[in-house]
Amino acid sequence: MISNSIDSCLVTSAAELLTTSQRVVVFTHMAPDGDAMGSSLAVYHWLMQARNWEPESGHVAVVVPNAFPSFLSWLPDSDRILVYESQSEKARQWIAEADLHVCLDFNEPKRIGPAGEQLLQNPCPKLLIDHHLNPSDFATVTISQPQASSTCELVYRLLWQMGCVRDNIPLNVATSLYTGLMTDTGNFSYNSNNPDIYEMIASLMRAGIDKDAIYDAVFNQYTEDRVRLVGYGLYRKMQLVPEYHLAIITLSIEELQRFHYQQGDTEGLVNMPLQMSDIYYSVFLREQEPKPGTPKPVVKLSFRSQGDRPVNIFAHEVFGGGGHMNAAGGEFVGTLYQALQRLMNNYPKYLKKD
Ligand code: 5GP
Ligand code: MN
Repeated sequence: MISNSIDSCLVTSAAELLTTSQRVVVFTHMAPDGDAMGSSLAVYHWLMQARNWEPESGHVAVVVPNAFPSFLSWLPDSDRILVYESQSEKARQWIAEADLHVCLDFNEPKRIGPAGEQLLQNPCPKLLIDHHLNPSDFATVTISQPQASSTCELVYRLLWQMGCVRDNIPLNVATSLYTGLMTDTGNFSYNSNNPDIYEMIASLMRAGIDKDAIYDAVFNQYTEDRVRLVGYGLYRKMQLVPEYHLAIITLSIEELQRFHYQQGDTEGLVNMPLQMSDIYYSVFLREQEPKPGTPKPVVKLSFRSQGDRPVNIFAHEVFGGGGHMNAAGGEFVGTLYQALQRLMNNYPKYLKKD
């Protein structure tokens, strides 16, 4: 039996929004990951089935800020997703005309890029479902549980408390939810000690998901370039700071291009140094092309840690980012070298020695 962790007033308000709106846009964060994509497509499929909407009926769209990685493109109906960066006109029209915005897996409009400004311009009700710390106060109904493993867990909980999922979960909803539960917990290797998660999985399996096939589709379909890039990052580019149990990997644009980098190719790399017995912190810095209109490159930083060693405060205070205690990220405008300098100057203040 799954516990009712969402306040019942919030469930009632969310249900009201989801069952009465006629034109819904589902949003998720920049560089969408398995949880972002899974939760968005789960809500999309659930709405279509619960409301008897046809795919082309113009009732619901998923908008992502930029392209999603190819290892998620097998997700049911991912080809119907609107990518704001490349389909901005169509996406803008949907956002402006919507009578409900459902915001999944992000805690502030800034996290969805330029679409965030437009989201705020439309005064329609907004339903936020998320597991990041400190959501900003922009939604009509905010379901925020930082202790949850994933946004997919929270979507499951909401549907459960609405009485909508028992043993009758549509297969495409179940597949989407499992994908986020699996990816946001590293295939249930961290942040996954809540027994409810396994009750959810059991019910998703009864709904017909093939969990082994989902694992295979996400984790075993890499290109040779990707596998070699990861190898290069670990063998040639990883530095260790033993005193602080810290590993640092940097990859420049030139190095990424050498391996024909595609979105998502370095996913998971930052977790790998934690496989070493005395490494508890890992930081990965990836140089990106300058944003349009600025000459400076942008460096994307990913932070990971184990146990009671928060990295989100470091990511927030030094790199303007955020995230969870053991998985956070941020950005730096400038060169890779400058970003690394900033990291090196600051880690003693934020990381524990023992
Ligand atoms: P990743 O390292 O996988 O990109 O992100 C890890 C976690 O940190 C995710 O939960 C993500 O939401 C958060 N995160 C990553 N980059 C940023 C950022 O630039 N700003 C904020 N606020 N959170 C981020
Ligand atoms: Mn998530």
